[in-house]
Amino acid sequence: MLAQMIYPHFHKDFVSYLGCNLFALLLLLLALALIIQHETHTPIVISTWRFIEAVKVAAWHVMEEGGSAVDAVVHGCSTCELLQCDGSVGYGGSPDESGETTLDAMIMDGTNMNVGAVGALRSVKGAIEAAKLVMEHTEHTLLVGDQASQFALALGLPGPANLSTAESLKAWSVWRESGCQPNYWCNVVPDSSVGCGPYRVSHLSQRMTDNKCEIFDRTDSEQFGSSSSKAVGFQNHDTISMAVIDKRGRIAAGTSTNGASHKIPGRVGDGPIVGAAAYADDDVGACGATGDGDVMMRFLPCYQVVESMRQGMDPASAAKDAIARIRRKYPSFIGAVFAVNRLGVHAGACHGWLFQYSVQDATMNDVQVFTVHPDAQ
Ligand code: ASP
Repeated sequence: MLAQMIYPHFHKDFVSYLGCNLFALLLLLLALALIIQHETHTPIVISTWRFIEAVKVAAWHVMEEGGSAVDAVVHGCSTCELLQCDGSVGYGGSPDESGETTLDAMIMDGTNMNVGAVGALRSVKGAIEAAKLVMEHTEHTLLVGDQASQFALALGLPGPANLSTAESLKAWSVWRESGCQPNYWCNVVPDSSVGCGPYRVSHLSQRMTDNKCEIFDRTDSEQFGSSSSKAVGFQNHDTISMAVIDKRGRIAAGTSTNGASHKIPGRVGDGPIVGAAAYADDDVGACGATGDGDVMMRFLPCYQVVESMRQGMDPASAAKDAIARIRRKYPSFIGAVFAVNRLGVHAGACHGWLFQYSVQDATMNDVQVFTVHPDAQ
């Protein structure tokens, strides 16, 4: 009133002033939203290797249906299990020494750090579904072997199923006919580098000279020139490790694999080990890994990646650092990781092989495959 008495146009001018500023504020907010959306690239789905169908299914779930990151990871990994991606995910791949296929899988919810996992799962095809049952219906983290199968069947998963196929049994008999080469034994008699078992523990004096565990030389000779055990190579193992950030910023990660070909029965790889093949934390981001799980799980590379990002490293440096830590102790190991921060910025690093990972984010119409070259020594 007083203002209007002193200055009669106060009301009109004030309203138009307010209107202009509100308009400017709205424009600013819109621009900010666009910048944030552009910078965050979320929702996002990332998977090891060219597992394109798996990424599409997960991306559809999280982008079109507005589903949760956990469910998207489970849908994505289940797709690979059904498609038997690369022969190294799902049934019918990587027969162990007795010819059986067993499965490892994990799911991690980065909102509450809840985890479910199964190792050496037999007779059940849905490994990641079994892992999810462990996460959602028990207070445990990891169930293994026959008891994991019984648990999954009791809670309604289809089975018991035969996880072998004509191809996996053929691969197994070829391996037997080749004198069980390669294999994962060392310090045993008869000499595991020339023939099949059953093996016994060798005497200490023999251990020092014969057939010892060549931990620095586990790789495929085609790639590294020489090898004694040649058990871990390009062709004989892979994992789908997948990370998803959903529309609400929830982050999940998971894995599924049939492990390593010709593994010793009972072997569990890095797939179901939290922090080894996958890790997720809503506050930071996520990581997925693939490679020689027996070596990699000793370094918890995915835990390392996420913790490095928490300390301020960008995803590319965190991924490289995790690989470098393993390479320093095992110069010939084969492996790779991808890292993604909570804004959806991603990167990969690898050693001993060329690595590819697949991505679909909010800005992409289709899945894109990124190729990562091994770090220089
Ligand atoms: N890491 C898996 C394992 O060792 C296999 C792989 O990803 O290559 O079981």
